[in-house]
Amino acid sequence: MRGKLHFDAVVIGAGTAGLVAGARLAEGGARVCVLAKGVGSTHLAPGTIDVLGYSPERVERPGRAVTQLAADDPEHPYALLGTEVVEDALHWFSARIAAGLLPGYRYVGDLERNHLLPTAVGVLRPSALVPETMAAGDGTSSEPLVVVGTSALRDFHASLCAANLGQIGLEARAVVLELTLDRADQNSLGLARRFDDPSWRGQFADQLAPLLGSDGRGRVGLPAVLGIADPHTVWTELQDRLGRPVFEIPTLPPSVPGMRMFEILRATLRSARGRLVIGAEVVGSERQQARVNAVISRAAGRDVVYSADWFVLAGGGFASGAIELDSRWRTRERIFGLPLRGLPEPGQPRFVGEYFAEQPIARVGVAVDGELRAEGLENVLVAGAALPGAIPWRELSGEGIALASGYRAAGAILAAAGVRERITA
Ligand SMILES: Cc1cc2nc3c(=O)[nH]c(=O)nc-3n(C[C@H](O)[C@H](O)[C@H](O)COP(=O)(O)OP(=O)(O)OC[C@H]3O[C@@H](n4cnc5c(N)ncnc54)[C@H](O)[C@@H]3O)c2cc1C
Repeated sequence: MRGKLHFDAVVIGAGTAGLVAGARLAEGGARVCVLAKGVGSTHLAPGTIDVLGYSPERVERPGRAVTQLAADDPEHPYALLGTEVVEDALHWFSARIAAGLLPGYRYVGDLERNHLLPTAVGVLRPSALVPETMAAGDGTSSEPLVVVGTSALRDFHASLCAANLGQIGLEARAVVLELTLDRADQNSLGLARRFDDPSWRGQFADQLAPLLGSDGRGRVGLPAVLGIADPHTVWTELQDRLGRPVFEIPTLPPSVPGMRMFEILRATLRSARGRLVIGAEVVGSERQQARVNAVISRAAGRDVVYSADWFVLAGGGFASGAIELDSRWRTRERIFGLPLRGLPEPGQPRFVGEYFAEQPIARVGVAVDGELRAEGLENVLVAGAALPGAIPWRELSGEGIALASGYRAAGAILAAAGVRERITA
């Protein structure tokens, strides 16, 4: 049995690219529906907006480096987007976070300078726009660091983190807190929920304070679990009680800062009357020549046809299954069967032996024109990791590309005359 629904725009994917595109479209007055088979990388990645961390050397000024990369590599997504769009998208995002679901919570940073944030294994990671709760960890400061682990979160090793930070010249030491919980261990989300409880975090601070020493020196690094519902209050309260700057260090998944970002963007979409359906895998489309009229999603054994004037494909890349390499070594975009770009030539290797080397297949994505329009389809725009030409994990550019391209795709649809007339009618 099939139901049928009509929208101005349907967005496929609820990662950063899809949520941003959906929220901006809804704010612009479009009737929009975001369809996703599940959540995206938000729940796995650190929750920072890394615009460009390496190009190929470590980047200090991301704005300048994006401009240079766009000039040097016309196939890179940033060459299509341009630095100005990246900057506008960052402003849009920061404003939505600051005005969003979580009171007081905000992101800090811009394209002028990358923060250098400690990871859980004690290396520094360049990132342009970061949650306020992480900023005090910046490795460019010489203030000593105290990395705090807990017996409850077994995947976060404070001593490893502090030792490795020491190796790169930072003054860092580890403290481990024995926590008595009703469960032997917790994941990051479980612990974040505890921090949302004022009396629990009060006890945590009381237990931690004496271990920090009385000299008042040192900023305190905790795993990124400082609340999921009200992180701003948790963070400010801990700083007040400990009398020192406090910062979060991203953990293994699930990523609490990424989940906060997801919830804020989802609420932004919904408050602008956009719709989000999670658990709705798009399995096919209805087309007339170069136009897609509808996509078909399958949820709970039922097919629903979503017709729209515009579609944004923000289904991610290989990691989310939107682009597939099958057992016969065929690569395809799974929903529309769109042409791909960046594929190694026949006979050339797709992978190389060294794990961290540049893998030839890594740059594959859907072929688009300068407006992010999928080759061969006039009303399908592509955003995020589905775009070709980048190596996000190596460049540390995935979140910047997802944000800026989702933002740009929505802007292009809103600017299209036909849609604007219908929206304002
Ligand atoms: C573990 C991990 C760590 C990372 N760390 C970093 C980092 O430190 N810095 C950085 O810049 N980047 C990092 N990245 C990469 C970055 O997170 C991604 O490049 C970026 O978030 C991609 O966003 P996206 O919206 O394009 O796709 P995704 O976040 O992958 O979202 C894809 C969405 O499409 C949906 N979807 C797919 N197929 C269908 C279908 N057929 N029907 C309906 N829905 C569908 C998925 O369910 C999902 O909602 C990391 C990624 C991972 C996985």
